[in-house]
Amino acid sequence: MEPANPMKKFSRNALFVAVRSNISLVTALFIANLAAAQSQAAELIEASLTTQEQSLVSWLDTEEDNMVAMLKQLTNVNSGSLNKQGVDEIGRLLSAELETLGFDLTTFPGEVIEMPNCPGSNYAIDVADHILANKGGKGKKLLLMGHMDTVFPPNSPFQTFSRSGDVMYGPGVADMQGGLVVMLYALKALQKAGELDDMAISVFMNSDEEIGSLSSRKYLEEQAPLHDYGLVYESSGSNNMVRQRKGLGQARFVVNGKASHAGGAHQLGRSAIKELAYKIVEIEKMTDYESGVTVNVGVVSGGEARNTIAPCAEAFIDLRYPAPQQGIDAVAQFEAIFDSVLSYPVDSGEISTTSWTNLHRPPKIPTPESDYLLEKTIAIGRLLGQKLGVTDSGGGTDGSLTQAAGLPTLDSLGVSGTGAHSDREEARISSLVERAKLSAILIHRLSAE
Ligand SMILES: [Zn+2]
Repeated sequence: MEPANPMKKFSRNALFVAVRSNISLVTALFIANLAAAQSQAAELIEASLTTQEQSLVSWLDTEEDNMVAMLKQLTNVNSGSLNKQGVDEIGRLLSAELETLGFDLTTFPGEVIEMPNCPGSNYAIDVADHILANKGGKGKKLLLMGHMDTVFPPNSPFQTFSRSGDVMYGPGVADMQGGLVVMLYALKALQKAGELDDMAISVFMNSDEEIGSLSSRKYLEEQAPLHDYGLVYESSGSNNMVRQRKGLGQARFVVNGKASHAGGAHQLGRSAIKELAYKIVEIEKMTDYESGVTVNVGVVSGGEARNTIAPCAEAFIDLRYPAPQQGIDAVAQFEAIFDSVLSYPVDSGEISTTSWTNLHRPPKIPTPESDYLLEKTIAIGRLLGQKLGVTDSGGGTDGSLTQAAGLPTLDSLGVSGTGAHSDREEARISSLVERAKLSAILIHRLSAE
């Protein structure tokens, strides 16, 4: 029997998908619409690949071994965000490739980012250089983006590339040296086909994405209005393109108390650890799954000795928020907690807190233009026999910065992979060529608009 109101059934199905897949209702409706629009896909794309596009595909079909070899070389260089030397080495390897393709290169020096610390912990980040590769040309101006850093420090046990069957393992195979290789080979394919010379393309590769693009943000926001479309080569997870992302924030705070002998003069001490613990309880209360705001106190340290009342303690906090105002409100809540003394009934002025907060990624809110990019990419995927889904994510990318700066941006153009930020990080080898084909054709079509 036909439902009385098809629209009602459509929305109810979308609601079911939203709840089951933990995505927003708007994205579930987008997915339902996408399925309904499949038959009209010809309006969005040409019905089949042109001869020119077919030549991009054919060349990339021969390149899997070279792509794996390049990814192995990149993965075996440690490029943890705090390892300036390693990240700069990745920059040199990729710059040489882009130069060969005819790009002009600009290097933006990284900088030292300082945050409050307990004496001796010295948490400062010496950010490696960022690279902008440019070439002028006709057609739409495209900004391709990827980060060169990973989350794995030089002393991590997870350091080297390995493979087994169609799976490769290693720090950055998915997040996102794999994506950088995809991007590079899409450009190489366009060059082989004689198309690249005429295109207006910039490539921005930053070295601090994994710590929140604290140094590179200003360059990304400068580049955004100079281009028509933004493409980000983060992993496509399990073959899903991300439509919408939460905003991200971070906060670091240091409590200074008063040292004293834990036995002889306990009452004279003011424990920074005790105060930190009270503050953490209040901070953790801010998590509200219903509104989508989450906080995580991810790192704590402090104290000097078992029998010393701790004079200093510090914590590092992660914040996720769906709407811009929620981020602003959360920072105000953090500051109220930092500014009050919670663990001693009388504030004797002997406990103080210094803090640093940063809303480093705005939420990525879809626009008709970014949905257009997403639909176009999925349609090209269909032509190539690649089934790409759509999802929302609690994780941020640099695409959130450029989208908020007005550049319609699509992320998750990189390899299909899972386990990012863990020693289980892996990616599908065949997705290197698949995604390079997807990108080459996407760039070919977008550039010609
Ligand atoms: Zn990443």
